Amino acid sequence: MAIKNKTLRLILGDQLNINHSWFATVDNNVTYVLMEIRTETDYAKHHLQKVIGIFAAMQDFAKELKLHHHDVIYIHLNEENNLHRFDENILALIDKFKFTQFEYLLPDEYRVDEHMKAFTQKLKIPTKAFDTEHFYSTRSELGDLFADKKTYLMESFYRYMRKKHKVLIDDENKPLHGKWNFDEDNRQKLPKAHKPVFPLVFCNDVTKIEAEIIKSNVKTIGKVDSKNFIWPINRKQSLELLDFFTTNCLHLFGTFQDAMAPNEWSIYHSRLSFSMNIKLISPKEVVDKAIEAYNKNPDQIAFHQLEGFVRQIIGWREYMRGIYWLKMPEYANLNYFQHDEKLPEWFWTGNTKMNCLKDAIHQSLDYAYAHHIQRLMVTGNFALLAGVHPDEVDAWYLGIYIDAFEWVEITNTRGMSQFADGGIVGTKPYVSSAAYINKMSSYCSGCYYDKNKKTGEKACPFNSLYWNFYNKHEDKLGNNPRIGMMYNVWRKMNVDAQKELLDQADYYLKHINEL
Ligand SMILES: Cc1cc2nc3c(=O)[nH]c(=O)nc-3n(C[C@H](O)[C@H](O)[C@H](O)COP(=O)(O)OP(=O)(O)OC[C@H]3O[C@@H](n4cnc5c(N)ncnc54)[C@H](O)[C@@H]3O)c2cc1C
Ligand code: SF4
Repeated sequence: MAIKNKTLRLILGDQLNINHSWFATVDNNVTYVLMEIRTETDYAKHHLQKVIGIFAAMQDFAKELKLHHHDVIYIHLNEENNLHRFDENILALIDKFKFTQFEYLLPDEYRVDEHMKAFTQKLKIPTKAFDTEHFYSTRSELGDLFADKKTYLMESFYRYMRKKHKVLIDDENKPLHGKWNFDEDNRQKLPKAHKPVFPLVFCNDVTKIEAEIIKSNVKTIGKVDSKNFIWPINRKQSLELLDFFTTNCLHLFGTFQDAMAPNEWSIYHSRLSFSMNIKLISPKEVVDKAIEAYNKNPDQIAFHQLEGFVRQIIGWREYMRGIYWLKMPEYANLNYFQHDEKLPEWFWTGNTKMNCLKDAIHQSLDYAYAHHIQRLMVTGNFALLAGVHPDEVDAWYLGIYIDAFEWVEITNTRGMSQFADGGIVGTKPYVSSAAYINKMSSYCSGCYYDKNKKTGEKACPFNSLYWNFYNKHEDKLGNNPRIGMMYNVWRKMNVDAQKELLDQADYYLKHINEL
């Protein structure tokens, strides 16, 4: 078949932004290519729902482009001529259809960015890279903002973003309602009788995609109900989920942002990270819609709920991306505490007697989702207290969550959760004993372990591991003003009590797979 198009444009699986200027007009000289390839299915062991979700969204996106009369080549996973690498597939297409120009959108992942740079440098036809037109900030904006600073405070970045983009700002460039941050009004435990809203889920039939993945023998984790795939796979569904969130969840988002309860997998969270990370919807659309909902309904949605939500998106999300581009590739090897343990086996099955971990892991295997506090203060907290190597922790998070893409996964995992960056993202490690988990959840009351016991039979492992962690890393943390109080408590403890705690922790670490 003779093709007259001259330009080949690559769209990656996380670049499904139909509002991109590329698609504003139909150009008969342009052909778009999307490809399902093994370098992408195999760079981590992904959750089955993640692979399916991305392929389903890519296929839907290709259909939409065709409906708008764009010329599209779609390379399926098991297609005979699929060479399973971006560069090799592109070279084959250029050769076959005689394209005279190649264009691509800037990848969000360092790994793919390097691949595309190396490949295009050698390519014999002209090449151009375009912005994805998705984020509020550019790759280098955070780095420029903090160029002469020693630290990278998220709060400073957040305020800068609010002012720059005029989000929740008054005419004098001051924060609406007089404060930048309303966190003290947020973060309560779910009351016993409170039943959170039932999450909106979709019923996409993805059986064909699942069959292709199985046929190709891609190694995955977790499970899927492929007749009723729950995640949004196109823009329409993503907008429905956004609408559901602003109508049914935003009014309690902040209040229960950190709350956890058995079998409550979504609470009042938006579950929009997947749609946003593959760019079916933009962060600006999400923020604008939340503000619109608040403006329409200020009696129902308190300002602190809105501010808490907006901060996650124009603050944390953009901040993590900025740190990623500033600190990669070194960031991927940071291991501040020199941790070197393996992840317990039950991280892959959920078979542990610790109720909080059992619930968070089972939910992750079932839905490819856990909310922020489950990731940070349950699984992440345990991995840090247990001294697990950050590579192992990263691999788990990069695989298991449907929204996991390295730019936002590694900064959260290696940085915020494991403090392996020594304090670039956070000012102190996020560790806790059972007290915090019990404060924010109802897990402890149904647990085999006793939240109040530090040592002895059935003592909650978090309690002794917590003190063991501080003791072990006193040289690195002892002078941190944000945790001075904990060291005062530790140093005042009598030597026998300290020894008992350390012995208990040692026992648990030696029997970690049996906990
Ligand atoms: C160890 C660990 C690993 C994580 N890995 C990922 C990941 O791979 N991909 C990912 O998108 N997020 C990750 N996060 C951040 C956060 O947990 C998820 O964005 C959030 O749980 C997604 O669910 P949601 O859409 O319901 O979020 P909501 O609670 O509804 O929050 C709204 C949005 O805010 C943004 N957001 C909130 N917190 C963060 C944050 N810390 N960093 C960046 N964006 C944030 C997300 O886009 C999210 O969709 C991780 C956090 C931790 C502690
Ligand atoms: S007692 Fe300990 S292990 Fe059990 S749920 Fe509470 S914090 Fe988790």
